[in-house]
Amino acid sequence: MRPVLIVGAGFSGSIVARQLADAGVRCLVIDSRDHVGGNCFTERDTATGIMVHRYGPHIFHTSNPEVWDYVQRFGEWVPHVNRVKASIAKGVFGLPINLHTINQFFGRRFNPTEAQQFVASLGDSSILSPQNFEEQALKMIGRELYEAFFRGYTIKQWGCDPTELPASILQRLPIRFSYNDSYYNSRWQAMPRHGYTEVFRQLLAHPLIELRLSTPWEPAMKSEFRHVVYTGPVDAYFGHSHGRLGYRTVFWERTDGTGDLQGNAVINYPELDVPHTRVHEHKHFAPWEEHERSVLFTEYSRETSRDDIPYYPKRLAADKEMLAGYEALASAETGVSFIGRLATYRYLDMHQVIAEALDFSKCLLPILEKRRRSVEAQATGEN
Ligand code: UDP
Repeated sequence: MRPVLIVGAGFSGSIVARQLADAGVRCLVIDSRDHVGGNCFTERDTATGIMVHRYGPHIFHTSNPEVWDYVQRFGEWVPHVNRVKASIAKGVFGLPINLHTINQFFGRRFNPTEAQQFVASLGDSSILSPQNFEEQALKMIGRELYEAFFRGYTIKQWGCDPTELPASILQRLPIRFSYNDSYYNSRWQAMPRHGYTEVFRQLLAHPLIELRLSTPWEPAMKSEFRHVVYTGPVDAYFGHSHGRLGYRTVFWERTDGTGDLQGNAVINYPELDVPHTRVHEHKHFAPWEEHERSVLFTEYSRETSRDDIPYYPKRLAADKEMLAGYEALASAETGVSFIGRLATYRYLDMHQVIAEALDFSKCLLPILEKRRRSVEAQATGEN
């Protein structure tokens, strides 16, 4: 049987390859980059020895037992709770907004119930069903907290007014009335002890998986494979025939130093008078390692031009309209499946991508098996 072609060696592509290979299906995985792991790629920095996340930090978290069990097979995961600080003119505060943030910000000593009542009194009760990011924030926390922590950051991050963005972006962040300052609510939060790249190496280490790096997808490849699983940008697959879907890209400025430079892995800068959104000190993502030197990456966001890496799907009204056109083309395309963040143009976390890749593989396997049987039956009939 001809192999299945998997375009992209990020989580979607690598997991589908592994699931198919474990079921006895031969796969060829190609990636246009010279490494596996997509944007999760990590490598040891030659100057400092620190494990750096080349495309920005990825912090693994999930409440899905299937996903958590699955990733255990491909490396050791060290529990790691992400605690983010926000630096504004008024001081440094914990994020997401929690009881400590509220008490510090308003100079109060509220208990959880009092804080909840207080924040509810700040919310705009005239907004019944919030239609966008700003309305969601004003309803939940009121103008003062919104302007201190969210408005400026969101304008810098997304390059548009928060009234143009969906409320779902804000819903990514919890608001807590306890001193729990974990950035995520997930049951499991962890980092791979030897970096993400090692997890991908293990995922792809299977005799039925062939990997070809620095190999871009070409439409002519399709005819050589029994099925194609495409995880690249959906608009690129169709030659941008309906236009380019809007993404924000991020980029970093590097600062080297010695010792502990900011005392935390992530510090956000939500105010508009600071041009960057956040600063990462990568060695704090691997606190079990010791490094004398350190390196900071100051993150900026901008609109994506042709050669930029697409990071955050904007999903503005015009993008959604364009996406509908691409979805119609994708569903009419035979022998090709479109999965993952770029191929479905969605803002997905790693755990969601993994869960979807596992589910997708479960659906694809019986289809491939049926096709294999019919090809065999045809061959037997011809003999
Ligand atoms: N956000 C904000 N202020 C912050 C952190 C986040 O306004 O200090 C908003 C912003 O719009 C951002 C969204 O919340 O895009 C989601 O934040 P998250 O940290 O989940 O973004 P990611 O880590 O995926 O970049």
